[in-house]
Amino acid sequence: MLERKTSWIDGKPLSEPAGTLNPTINPANGEVLALIADATAEEVDSAVRVAERLFVRGDWRKMPTSKRSQTLISLANLIRTNAEELAQLESKNAGKTIADARDEIQYGANILQFFAGILPAFCGETAPVSGNGTGLVFREPVGVCGLIVPWNFPFVVTLWKVAPALAMGNSVVLKPAPATPLTALRLAELAQEAGIPDGVLNVVFGGAEVGRALSLHPLVRKISFTGSTKTGKEVMKMAAEGVKRVSLELGGKSASLVFADADVERAANSIWSVFANAGQDCCARSRMLVQREVYDRFVECFVEHTRSIRIGNPQADDTQMGCLISSQQRERVAGYVAQGKSAGAKLCLGGEVPKGEEFDRGSFYLPTVFSEVTPDMVIAQEEIFGPVVSILPFDTEEEGVALANGTPYGLSGSVWTRDIARALRVARAVESGVISINTSSSVHLEMPFGGFKQSGMGRELSSHALEYYSELKSVFISAE
Ligand code: NAD
Repeated sequence: MLERKTSWIDGKPLSEPAGTLNPTINPANGEVLALIADATAEEVDSAVRVAERLFVRGDWRKMPTSKRSQTLISLANLIRTNAEELAQLESKNAGKTIADARDEIQYGANILQFFAGILPAFCGETAPVSGNGTGLVFREPVGVCGLIVPWNFPFVVTLWKVAPALAMGNSVVLKPAPATPLTALRLAELAQEAGIPDGVLNVVFGGAEVGRALSLHPLVRKISFTGSTKTGKEVMKMAAEGVKRVSLELGGKSASLVFADADVERAANSIWSVFANAGQDCCARSRMLVQREVYDRFVECFVEHTRSIRIGNPQADDTQMGCLISSQQRERVAGYVAQGKSAGAKLCLGGEVPKGEEFDRGSFYLPTVFSEVTPDMVIAQEEIFGPVVSILPFDTEEEGVALANGTPYGLSGSVWTRDIARALRVARAVESGVISINTSSSVHLEMPFGGFKQSGMGRELSSHALEYYSELKSVFISAE
């Protein structure tokens, strides 16, 4: 008998959900993991009202900062205690390798610990106002936050949002992606065990309809959304109606710029900058821009490194690349590969489904490398969100930067060079929220993460994230 999972509202699962039941599956083998009941509009409304009631009552918001911080640390510790169970759930539900899932669960706990740690130091200000008196600037929580999460890093992105939202004393209604609801529900159960008051962290299941209900709800004061740019635009329009605060973390088409003076072998070994999580990564360096003098050498090395990737059962300890989230996603990726071939790009590796019995029931796709790509090709412009990289040549620094900036996106990127002046010049000139020099590591707890242009607005992580879950309040005290 399959387990039935329902939305978590006011510290318990809904006992009589009215919405339709959908299977959540393991994309590596088609196994049905659980049946998930979509929240109805009434159930979303009920979750928001519960969150609002708790916010007004202040059980969490008015808790002394040190106690709130300690409760979040307890939750981080509970995640660590239950890490293996959470990692197995995440790996099975998202098709990601168990090694990655284990890292991501630990990272989730670290995110909570980080915000719990910086919270007591996140103070307001005094202002030297010109009147006869003193100005005080407070940080107030926003209210009910609707948090909408995608399927590629379900646990991590959930905690990017939940941790700062809760740290600031807000109430939360969290909506995981329909494909990957399982770890969000476990998080809510663990939050209760850690001592977060019932009704402060609610989870509603479902897809676009539930996301819309949350984005339009008049009692939701802030929407934090991670997902595609197309959906992000719709969320922004819906939020406009109630002048809701909005953070958007959207798509990307990030570039690695490899200059001829770089350690080219090292740069060409950065295959995980695009193939990590089977390429379903908003930061994926899906465009490698390589200076012409070293282009052929780079392509040859990159293809050789890529050939060694072990793709297979995500649950096996030595697997390096799992499967895509669904067969639809695989079709989408295959469609882009077909477009690349017909546009005249050279397929150097991959471009098909791997062969073998272990791949028959899952949505696997081989890591794929295209060279001789031109900037106008669709594969060089659009986010594929799969294991496909385009390698393009450039001549001058100016041309490389223009190519890097030549898409509507601006999330991440890398610069590979031994010339420090050039590294800084190019890092400043590339229009992206994050850029790494001689590495492809992009995301750090201590630094803001988010996009320029159509990659989004607002920032996750670092103390800046707390700004996006709080309002400034100015208080003037007269001395007359
Ligand atoms: P998506 O936009 O289809 O869905 C994202 C979330 O929004 C899901 O929970 C979905 O159910 C919900 N949703 C769908 N339609 C909605 C609507 N009309 N109103 C409100 N909510 C709605 O994206 P996806 O396919 O789940 O995720 C992949 C995308 O996410 C990629 O474009 C990727 O680049 C992006 N992403 C960005 C970041 C980042 O930090 N910038 C991180 C991870 C993923």
